[in-house]
Amino acid sequence: MFDKLTERLQGVMESLRGRGRLTEENIADTLRQVRMALLEADVALPVVKGFVDSIRAKVVGQEFDKSLTPGQMLIKLIHDELIALMGAGVRPLNLRAQPPVVILLAGLQGAGKTTSAGKLAKWLKENERKKVLLASTDVYRPAAILQLERLASQLDVAFFPSDPKKPAVTLAQEAVAEAKRSLFDVLIVDTAGRLHVDDEMMVEIREISGVVAPTETLFVVDSMAGQDAVNAAKAFGAALTLTGVVLTKTDGDARGGAALSVRQITGAPILFMGTGEKTDALEPFHAERVASRILGMGDVLSLVEKVTKNVDREQAEKLARKLKKGKDFDLEDLHDQLQQVEKMGGLSALMDKLPAQLAGKAAQMPQGNEKEIKRQLAMIRSMTPGERRYPKTIDASRKRRIAAGSGVHVSEINKLLKNHMQMQKMMKTFSKGGGLRRLMSAFGG
Ligand code: GDP
Repeated sequence: MFDKLTERLQGVMESLRGRGRLTEENIADTLRQVRMALLEADVALPVVKGFVDSIRAKVVGQEFDKSLTPGQMLIKLIHDELIALMGAGVRPLNLRAQPPVVILLAGLQGAGKTTSAGKLAKWLKENERKKVLLASTDVYRPAAILQLERLASQLDVAFFPSDPKKPAVTLAQEAVAEAKRSLFDVLIVDTAGRLHVDDEMMVEIREISGVVAPTETLFVVDSMAGQDAVNAAKAFGAALTLTGVVLTKTDGDARGGAALSVRQITGAPILFMGTGEKTDALEPFHAERVASRILGMGDVLSLVEKVTKNVDREQAEKLARKLKKGKDFDLEDLHDQLQQVEKMGGLSALMDKLPAQLAGKAAQMPQGNEKEIKRQLAMIRSMTPGERRYPKTIDASRKRRIAAGSGVHVSEINKLLKNHMQMQKMMKTFSKGGGLRRLMSAFGG
């Protein structure tokens, strides 16, 4: 998301570089370029206007720190303004109401409601230890009900079996009754979406909202949807009292204007963002981080959080001790490492959070994508413990056996072994120079 916008804004900053002073002229020119960049990113017009006006008001007639260059000053202003636009701070879900807490999801078809319902259920179950019931009221599309049912069973979360022959409002009522009867903490109600806003849908969702009395009414919006998203936000915002927004598909490479418009238009804070199709691809929304990402500073904060959460410190320390004793980094160790990267969804999952130069390097590494990691793991798992410990014993016939066992060509085995040799060498240099410790402390170890 935001690639293009980032590129444009960086161009704007670039054009200011080397200028000692801001003149009225170059301020006006810069703001014109910022405006163009935002419009190109599909940010709603009134939002763009407010954004640019607000920056202009701050630039004009204000004394700035002399140590800042005009470019830095404007970056800071734009950064602050982006944060204000998306809403500073993180607002957690309100789970303090009398259980069952009802979360109602609203949005256009294809926005990602059903997927988000599943992601939220998993998130609540794992992070908040809540007993969650999922219910669908999409009686127009039995396939949508089935989709939620499958998700629920995959996540091992309870599902309310909706009968598509009943009216949606009745189903919503029954789901609440069931949530009360069976003492669920949270009930997530997925609703029908249409391709475009229509009155009938709005009437229905208002009725559903009336009978379920939701604590949270979340508007689910596709961050790539542009003007459609703006129209939907207006319509749903008018029909319902929205308490929050779930911004989906932020992993896409489209313009991402909805992210910047939706808060302003609905008046509701963005609580979560969807970052992929999988059920764990949901993150609390941090405007500060997204603003940094838009400006191309690299989202170092969420990267660090992700890495420290997933890196198994004990394992890392064990490896450090082993290398210190002069032992080799063997294939077993490579296996453990790959597994950790796999847990994070591959380096590629972290890519858009890295500053541009680093991302380029990471993309070239063999651990770059998840598929490749899975393949390498499969190869190592087809080896005997002895082979993993002493890779030198892997001769041609062993290679053939391992290749057959893991469904790859022998050349892949050769590549893996070569790769491993290189890493072994690297680890040796690292552990000699005390570099490994430094490397690990960078991960918070
Ligand atoms: P609904 O009609 O609003 O219930 O939308 P769905 O939940 O069925 O989602 C529509 C499509 O968007 C599906 O193919 C989902 O896999 C996909 N999707 C949902 N959220 C995300 C996300 O955060 N990232 C990506 N890449 N795809 C998503």
